[in-house]
Amino acid sequence: MKEQNKIQSKNAIEEAKEIFSSCIKCGMCKSICPVFSVLREEHLSPRGHSSLAIKNVFTDSFFHCTLCKACEEKCPIKLKICDAIIKIRESLSLEEKNIKENKEMIKKVRETGNPFGGEKSSGDKLYCC
Ligand code: SF4
Ligand code: SF4
Repeated sequence: MKEQNKIQSKNAIEEAKEIFSSCIKCGMCKSICPVFSVLREEHLSPRGHSSLAIKNVFTDSFFHCTLCKACEEKCPIKLKICDAIIKIRESLSLEEKNIKENKEMIKKVRETGNPFGGEKSSGDKLYCC
């Protein structure tokens, strides 16, 4: 890994941990999380993400989040959970620990401007946003 990527990755993790460090582990965010409500696994819930990050455990589970921000609405201290998850994903990507599906999506965006592939985007329009 390039030295610059290492520094960027470390900074991204520190920023994410700083956000999660205020989490009081109340679990108010869990019931509203669409990923947790289907898969019922603590490590895929917002509180689970917080616990893992604080313990320096950075796994594929951070890629399961849809970034819907429902948990942020429920959180009594309004933690910027999605910002923290994005930072962790950034770090994992810089360290080339991206999941296969994410790598494929990035490749398709670069090739066609469309995360689903297929027709090439005209101009600088992206289909994903
Ligand atoms: S609601 Fe907020 S403070 Fe409570 S566990 Fe979830 S992220 Fe942490
Ligand atoms: S932003 Fe992620 S962690 Fe929060 S409720 Fe949505 S899917 Fe769950």
